[in-house]
Amino acid sequence: MVRLPLIQNWDCHACGDCCTDYVVPVTAAERQRIEQQGWSALPEFQNTPLFVRSSPWWKFWRRTYRLNQGPGHRCIFLNDKKLCRIHDQFGFETKPLACRLYPYILVPAGEQWRVSMRYACPSAVANKGRPLSSQSEEIAGMAREMETWGDVPRRGSLLHLPPPPLSRHQALDWPDWQQMINLFIATLRDPHDAFPRRMLRCLALMRVLKSAKLSELQGKRFQEFLRVMSPAVDADVPRQLERMAGPGWIGRVLFRSSLALYLRKDSGVRIGVAKKGRLALVLSTLRMVLGQGQVPLLQGGLPDQSFAQVEEPLGELHPASLEALERYYEVKLDSGQFCGRMYYGMPVWEGFTALAMTLPIIFWTARLFRRLGQPESVFKAISVVDENFGYHPLLGSRRQRLALGILESRQELDRLIAWYGK
Ligand code: SF4
Repeated sequence: MVRLPLIQNWDCHACGDCCTDYVVPVTAAERQRIEQQGWSALPEFQNTPLFVRSSPWWKFWRRTYRLNQGPGHRCIFLNDKKLCRIHDQFGFETKPLACRLYPYILVPAGEQWRVSMRYACPSAVANKGRPLSSQSEEIAGMAREMETWGDVPRRGSLLHLPPPPLSRHQALDWPDWQQMINLFIATLRDPHDAFPRRMLRCLALMRVLKSAKLSELQGKRFQEFLRVMSPAVDADVPRQLERMAGPGWIGRVLFRSSLALYLRKDSGVRIGVAKKGRLALVLSTLRMVLGQGQVPLLQGGLPDQSFAQVEEPLGELHPASLEALERYYEVKLDSGQFCGRMYYGMPVWEGFTALAMTLPIIFWTARLFRRLGQPESVFKAISVVDENFGYHPLLGSRRQRLALGILESRQELDRLIAWYGK
C-alpha cells in the first residue's frame, strides 16, 4: 500500500537540475540493462565508461557503482535539450530506479510506503504538474521495486514495523501516532493564526506531550487528551509574536551554524566555496557563525547580500508562499520523513525539533533571495533548505543534535521562529 500526499502535484518539467546535481547509484541489474542498450558502441561513448565505482577501493567484497558524469557534473546521458537519452530512446521504465523515483521519497511505515517529496525539485515546490493521486499506480510500482532494490529492507521486514518512538521512554502505536501527527498538521493549517505562531503552538504541544505519561493514555483516552490539550497550549503561546524577546547570543550563534549546514553545497554544479578547499570552507563557516559582513557563498547562486540586509523583515506572506509552507510541512509530517530511519534515526521529538528549525532557516533564506519577490523567494528558500534536510550527514551529527537540544530546551528556537517570521 502507498500513502500519497493528496495535496501535492508534480510532473517533470525537464529543468535538468537533478541530472546535473546528484550522483545516481545503479544496481548490477540496472548496469546490465543499460549496457545491453548498446551505448558503448556510439562514438561519443568510446572513451567514456558508463559507470564508475562509488565504493572505496578497499571495499572490494561489496562494490557499488554509479552513473558516470561528464563536464559540469552532468550525467553522461543528459542531452543538450536537458532530456534523458535513455528515457528518450528506450522509455521511462528503462532508467535506473533512482532517476525514476526522484523527487519522491518512499518512507517505510508499517504495512505502507508513505510518500514524501524532495522540494529541491523546483516543480515539487511550485506544485506544478498532475496530482499525485493520478500517479498512484506508477508510484506503487516503484515501491514494489524498492522492496527488492539494493540494501533497502525487504517486504518481510517492513511488515509490522512500529512507528518511530517519540523519545527513549515514549512510544505510540500507529493509530495514536497518526492522531498526534494529524493534530500537528491541523495546527499548522489553522487559517486563523499567523504561520510562525502555528509552529510555536506545535512546539508547545510537543512539550506537553513530552512530559505526559503516554503509557497510561491510549486509544480514546489519548484522543481525548489531544482534544483537551490543543486549546490549552494555544492560550500559552503569545498572540503578538513581535512582542517576544529576540534570540539571545547562544540562539543566534547556533542558528547561524545550522544555517551554514543548510546553505552549503560541497559538490555538483552549484558547489560553493568548498571548491576552493577545506580551509576556505572552514573560514566561510566561521564567517557565517560570526554573522558580520557579506553572506559567504556557501553554494553557487546565492545573492550577494550582507548579514545586515538579511535582517530586514520579509513582510507579510504571499498566499502562494503560505500554501507552499503548509504543504511542505504537511508532507514532511504525514510521511514521517522527519524522524526515524529517514532522518538520521532520530526519535519523533528530536526530528520534529529539527523540522521546526527549518522554519526560521527558510524565512532567513527567503530574505536572502528577496529580490526574486514572493512567492519565488519562499519557493527558492524551501528548495535550498530541503535539499539538505535528511541528506547532509552533518545535520545528523552529534554536534548538531546537541545544538538542537539546546535551542529547544532554552526556547531559543521559539524566539528564532518569532524573530525571522516577521
Ligand atoms: S540517466 Fe537520465 S534521468 Fe538519470 S540522471 Fe542520467 S540523464 Fe538524468
